[in-house]
Amino acid sequence: MKRTKGKAIAGSGVLRKRVTTALPFAFTGSQTQAIDEITGDMAADARMLRLLQGDVGSGKTVVAVMAMLNAVEAGAQAVLMAPTEILARQHLATVSPLAEAAGVRVAMLTGRERGKNRAGALEVLASGQAGFAIGTHALFQDDVEYKNLALAVIDEQHRFGVHQRLSLAAKGQAVDTLVMTATPIPRTLMLTAYGDMDVSRLTEKPSGRKPVDTRVLPIERLDQVSTAIGRALEAGDRVYWVCPLVEESEKLDVAAAEDRHAALAAMFGGRVGLVHGRMKGPDKDKVMASFMTGGIDVLVSTTVIEVGVDVPEATVMVVEHAERFGLAQLHQLRGRIGRGERPSTCLLLYASPLSETAKARLKIMRETDDGFRIAEEDLKLRGAGELLGTRQSGLPEFKLADLQVHDDLLAAARDDAALLLDRDPDLESARGQAVRTLLYLFEREAAVRNLRSG
Ligand code: ADP
Ligand code: MG
Repeated sequence: MKRTKGKAIAGSGVLRKRVTTALPFAFTGSQTQAIDEITGDMAADARMLRLLQGDVGSGKTVVAVMAMLNAVEAGAQAVLMAPTEILARQHLATVSPLAEAAGVRVAMLTGRERGKNRAGALEVLASGQAGFAIGTHALFQDDVEYKNLALAVIDEQHRFGVHQRLSLAAKGQAVDTLVMTATPIPRTLMLTAYGDMDVSRLTEKPSGRKPVDTRVLPIERLDQVSTAIGRALEAGDRVYWVCPLVEESEKLDVAAAEDRHAALAAMFGGRVGLVHGRMKGPDKDKVMASFMTGGIDVLVSTTVIEVGVDVPEATVMVVEHAERFGLAQLHQLRGRIGRGERPSTCLLLYASPLSETAKARLKIMRETDDGFRIAEEDLKLRGAGELLGTRQSGLPEFKLADLQVHDDLLAAARDDAALLLDRDPDLESARGQAVRTLLYLFEREAAVRNLRSG
């Protein structure tokens, strides 16, 4: 992608100025730096391929909006793609007021826009009347046309495949790509997971964030926890209650969540809602929307509470059987709270006996809120060969390499791969053929096709 020539996009700043004036806060230092890096890339005539990495709540969305406005100022269009319907709708809610302040029209495209709505969105995108498009993978279906797409922002990229990234980029000429992820990636893995990208990191939390009080409790104290929830509700707080993860069985997850929902509803009545992965999209959205607006105050769920859902009024997070969750996941879940003015509490409930690793994980959760440190500790804890949980975190898995031991080899291997691709992009030399064989043996031959399409 980077080798293809790009377009130089440099807006006048006039729309960005309107929006920054309208924002109720000032950017953090790392937001400002990220915006500079992104607009710098866009202004260059090489294609941008940049990763924006920042913890949940670090303020990635508004950085993306600045980049999108830059594209519109230059007479082009920008899309923001999320992996799920819920996240796409939330982005729409966040971005719409900013777009309005700038006078930019937004089109929405997900699997649920049908008939007239969909036709309307397609029309304003093709004519260029809409500067922004927000949605899911529906944004790059075959019949979607853009007048002049210059920037694709992809949120939570590990849920999209490389080919989806490519097909979105193919919708415009020389589209710049900005990928956002809330997964803090340890430095050693950065090279292998995202070696092809430049990186901007949001390392500061927006000011006014309060640290979350994290407590680890045995599940036997469930009664006390329920009583404490009752007090929190009286004080006007909202509560997430995440139910245990049952290995390999969504059905059992759902049953556990339904039981917990029934028990809590018996205590707190209609203030308790339930979402899980087996519900239909519109039903799920209805419950989420009700939690966002305060129609319900307790949200019981399986781990479907999407990364990125933003409800500043939620101040309590209960995680049942926290010992079954990975560190990265616990960190993501805790990131749902501590977003508003009021102090927040995270209650991690565990069942005995705890394994040494589970004990260590819960200890780290109590000790730190720093996503980058948690990612490093997570990698250490997983130890040689045991890369449990990498699939869900989107990190690569290795058949032979042990990151504890081989991390300096990774850098050399990456340089070597880059050199080979530069000299022999189609892998036709003897060495190139050997690499093809390796890719085949390690079931990565799809990479060869991606080389082509890239
Ligand atoms: P992320 O996408 O990184 O999880 P968001 O972009 O959703 O985070 O931002 C979380 C919340 O913080 C939003 O309500 C946003 O308006 C707010 N926010 C973003 N940047 C700042 C800032 N510099 N100061 C205060 N609040 C901010
Ligand atoms: Mg976000």
